[in-house]
Amino acid sequence: MPENPTPLPDFTRWPSFPFEGDMRVKQLAAPVEVEPARAGEDATDCVACSTPDDAYIWVSERWRVRAMDRPTGLPMVLILECRSHLDLGDLPNLLAAELGVMTVRLERAIRSLDGVARVHVNRWGDGSAHLHLWFLARPQGRLQLRGTFLTLWDDILPVIPEQQWRENLALVAAWLAEFGGKAIAEPPHIEWESPSTITFASDGENPEEAARPEQQPPEAPRPDAPQPDRPHDQSVTIAGESGAADTPHSQTATHP
Ligand SMILES: [Zn+2]
Repeated sequence: MPENPTPLPDFTRWPSFPFEGDMRVKQLAAPVEVEPARAGEDATDCVACSTPDDAYIWVSERWRVRAMDRPTGLPMVLILECRSHLDLGDLPNLLAAELGVMTVRLERAIRSLDGVARVHVNRWGDGSAHLHLWFLARPQGRLQLRGTFLTLWDDILPVIPEQQWRENLALVAAWLAEFGGKAIAEPPHIEWESPSTITFASDGENPEEAARPEQQPPEAPRPDAPQPDRPHDQSVTIAGESGAADTPHSQTATHP
């Protein structure tokens, strides 16, 4: 222990701070002369550029939306990407303007989900070079999750049920598709195939898992915020834009 430890900042006493107990501030590392390249700094080895549309939940001519490859603690975590290999400050005016439209649209789509009170929108860009904006849904009523530490809580909260997660993905994708582009995520079909009386598969296999063809491997990176952005995990795409007002014409998701 240093003799005069750095005092803990006020935020460690905020109700939203997820930790308690004895803590101390880390030693600040010396700045490096030259920062390392981010993942995909060169378009030729950019994961976003090489990921096909079917890994996304919605795609359009110039934008795509993807999810994590498995549910996490928050009701919804999505990433908005442009198709072009550009970072935020590099966007031409057309994409810059569309980014505003897409941000509002996606925020509204996620906020329309049951149990979502707020959608936090973040862009860090320290990990991957290709522009990607995070959209994190804050659960209704969870006042302790308000603000800065939502990304940390995502890793702390119990993981939401996969069925609910897939339904929410499909709702958001359908909402976006109301304005153009193509929804990739579909509602889970397992309910229709399940017998009314559950009989479990023999050989110890979890029948729910077995019936879920789109089950994904469990090693997805999770949304870790100011940390280097996680490598691109596969999921979503965004489709072409229309000039329509940002209210879907048909109700695919309930709106508060
Ligand atoms: Zn790229």
